[in-house]
Amino acid sequence: MNGTTKQKPCLNFNGYSYIKDRSTNKKTYWRCVNYLRDRCHSRLHTCIITNDVIKPPTKHTCTTDGSSLEVRKFNEEIAHRARNTQEIPGVIVTNCYKALSDQRIARLPIRDNIKRRIRMVRQNKNIVNAPNDPNFTSIPTSLTKTVRDDMFLRCDTGPGMSSKALGYQNKYENEPEFSHNIHKIAALVFLKPDDVVKGFEDLSVDLGDEYQAVFDYIEETYIGRLRANHTRRKPLFIIDFCKMFHRTTESLMRTNNSAEAYHRRINSIFQCSHPTLWVFLQKLIDEQNATHTDVVHIKSGQAPKSKKKNERFEK
Ligand SMILES: [Zn+2]
Repeated sequence: MNGTTKQKPCLNFNGYSYIKDRSTNKKTYWRCVNYLRDRCHSRLHTCIITNDVIKPPTKHTCTTDGSSLEVRKFNEEIAHRARNTQEIPGVIVTNCYKALSDQRIARLPIRDNIKRRIRMVRQNKNIVNAPNDPNFTSIPTSLTKTVRDDMFLRCDTGPGMSSKALGYQNKYENEPEFSHNIHKIAALVFLKPDDVVKGFEDLSVDLGDEYQAVFDYIEETYIGRLRANHTRRKPLFIIDFCKMFHRTTESLMRTNNSAEAYHRRINSIFQCSHPTLWVFLQKLIDEQNATHTDVVHIKSGQAPKSKKKNERFEK
C-alpha cells in the first residue's frame, strides 16, 4: 500500500491501482484509480486488520497498460522523497529514474518539469519566504511555538535585537580594543558569585558610554535593574554564577568539550552552513521536540545513553 501524490491511500494489485473509497470496522473498500477518467467501476475489498484482499476486483472497463502503474509508482516515489528527504531535486529524479526502463522514461515529463514539481511539493509545507532584509518586521507565528504549542522564541529575540547585534558584530571583529573589553564583560562569570554585581558596576563605570547599550542589555537580562532603594530587580534570565567560579577553583572542565558532540549533531541536522532564518528556526523547533522526547524517556526511568569514547578525558 502506498500514498498518491496527494497523499491519499493507494493500493496496487495485479497491475491495477486502487484508491481508498471508504472503510468500515471490518473492511476497506477500494475503487479503480480510473474511476473518473474512464468511468471504470472495478472495486475490491480488503480486510482492515490483515490488509489481505478478501473480495477480488470486479472487471475493469478502463484502458490501462503495464507502464502506467510503473509511472504512478515513480510519481509516488518522487513525492515521498520530496517530503521526507533533504535531497536536492536533481538527485531525487536521478534516483527515481534508476528503476525505470527506456519505454517508461520516454513517457515521463522532462527532467526540469519533475524538478519543478518537487519544489512545489516542498513549498506546500506553508513555510513563508525567508526575509532578505536584516530589519525584517516579524517572524511567522508558526515559528514562535514549539511542536507542543509552548512558547519557543523568547522576548529578547525580537527584530530589534537582530539589527543591534549585527552592528556590534562588525565592531567586535574589526576593533581589538572593543572586543577585548567585551571579553572583560564575559569574564564576569569567573568572579566569586557575591562579587559579580560589584564587578559589573565597576566595569560599567570604567568602560564608558560607548558600551552603554551592551551594559543595559546585560543588566536587564542577567543582573537585574537597580531599584531606587539600591536593591536589584529579578533579571530576565538567572545565571547560576556559582558554577563557573567553582569549576575554576576545583580545576573542573571549563571548556565546551562536552558540547562538541552536540555541535556535530546540529551540523548533521542542518546539512548546510547557511540555512535561511526560517529553515534555521524550523530545525531548532524540530530539535527541541527531539530533546523533549529524550527528557520524557529519562524521566520515565530509562537510563540515558552512556558515552563510550573520551569519557575519562572529561573527568
Ligand atoms: Zn479500472
